Amino acid sequence: MRGSSHLAIGLITGVAVAGLAPGIPFSLAGIALAGFSSLAPDLDHPESRLSKRLGFTQKFVRWAFVGAGVLIGAFAYLQLSASAQQRLYYTVALAFGLIGVGMQGGSARRLALLFTGLGTVVAGLYTEQLWLSLLGTFVALAPFTAHRSWTHTIWATALWTYIGHLADQHLGWRGVALYAGTGYASHLVADTLTKSGVRWFLPVSEYSFKVPLISTGSASGNVLEVGICVGYALLVLGLVVGHMGF
Ligand SMILES: [Zn+2]
Repeated sequence: MRGSSHLAIGLITGVAVAGLAPGIPFSLAGIALAGFSSLAPDLDHPESRLSKRLGFTQKFVRWAFVGAGVLIGAFAYLQLSASAQQRLYYTVALAFGLIGVGMQGGSARRLALLFTGLGTVVAGLYTEQLWLSLLGTFVALAPFTAHRSWTHTIWATALWTYIGHLADQHLGWRGVALYAGTGYASHLVADTLTKSGVRWFLPVSEYSFKVPLISTGSASGNVLEVGICVGYALLVLGLVVGHMGF
């Protein structure tokens, strides 16, 4: 499945959490986090899945993300006092930076992710935030694993959700674990719909779970991906509207 489809499905999942999960506040940042999490499993891919189709604008988009991350971080540092809000801005800045770095293609990709990840680990140690160090470890190591191996497992989903849980505790930002966990899981469910399937329980079981609807990259596969995204969006929209009682 293409990166843009994963992103769409992650964002829609975020809307579902925001609109339907009891006790979780509706949050645009949460929906964005679910979208970000839906891209994380493919950090193991040698090429950036998100930027592939952006063509020559890719460089511009990538630097726009990194630039936005730096600007948001600088704004939080200069304009905001130490508070939960400042920490939230730092987290958003980090997410923008990571997406920008993750869009890097080719041989520089692994190194860029390795150094960004290690930098994040150090920042986590320095500020005594375990979740940040775990996130950095994930980003640094994932590019060196085989594609669709351990980042595409139930264990990685649990780890990502746990990182969200720790961030929730540290940042006081309710619902992070649920937004992050469901966004991540949505990626694995979506990949299960492709011909290669997902080995959810590696290394315990090599069994590849699949409902082989989509052959990624083919014309019919692309149409089907768009159809699945639209169908999913309509379903969630219907449920949320029904839930709100219009
Ligand atoms: Zn994948």
